[in-house]
Amino acid sequence: MDTRFVKTLAAVALVPLLLVSCAANDDSTALEGGEKVVAEGKLTVCTHLPYEPFQYQEDGQIVGFDVDMVDLVAKELGVEQTIVNTPFETIETGQAMSTGKCDLAAAGMTITEERSRVMDFSDPYFNATQALLVQKGAGYDSLESLSGKTLGVQTGTTGQEYAEENAPADVELKVFEDLALLSGAVKTGSVDAGINDNGVLYDYVEQNPDTEVSIEFDTGEQYGFAVAKDQNDALLDTTNQVLDQAKQDGTYEKLFRKYFPDAELPGFVG
Ligand code: GLN
Repeated sequence: MDTRFVKTLAAVALVPLLLVSCAANDDSTALEGGEKVVAEGKLTVCTHLPYEPFQYQEDGQIVGFDVDMVDLVAKELGVEQTIVNTPFETIETGQAMSTGKCDLAAAGMTITEERSRVMDFSDPYFNATQALLVQKGAGYDSLESLSGKTLGVQTGTTGQEYAEENAPADVELKVFEDLALLSGAVKTGSVDAGINDNGVLYDYVEQNPDTEVSIEFDTGEQYGFAVAKDQNDALLDTTNQVLDQAKQDGTYEKLFRKYFPDAELPGFVG
């Protein structure tokens, strides 16, 4: 046998091996519509707890507006939603989805240009703006009024970014890992104010009447669910179809009213 033939034979023999190893690297299974899921029979969803009323624990269950919305997607796919709690940084960097920790992120997450480079967002499902949480009557109603004071921010969030870009240099920013720690710090006075999304802060104030939302900053944000970048178009399409249907047929409105009885329904509904 000449050596060229032997080399060709060896190369051909390697092909099936390569195919097998590729398949073994990709642990996901595909559903009927081509949607890829990392665990069979499940829609594995990454979130960061607590972010009430979008995702929080109640009687040992994880509930909330995002949970209910994603349940609609899971139902359409004929699978169960299973929720994985993970730090917000792993979600907002796209890592949780790109490494196959979960199929979808649902975390009250704002659609931004920067994040869109590392994940694929669904159509918007919620409107939000940054807002300031203070102790009732504290009198801080702007970032300027916090000169020489402390402002709590939640790590990795658009609120942290807004504060870093807009607060006067002599406002001391204190970084918290989650919303509960941030709002608790405002309530107990360990920071003078906290910045976060209006929806969650109004919910907090409702339950903690010794605090108030003193101003909204009109950042014009919209939340999206997200999948791994360029890897799961089928799941993204199905999610968008389910969202669209819910916005049209009254399901969105019903769920919105369940968690936000007094808020104005977003313009994209109906
Ligand atoms: N909407 C904000 C963001 O996307 C906060 C989200 C959150 O803390 N879960 O950065």
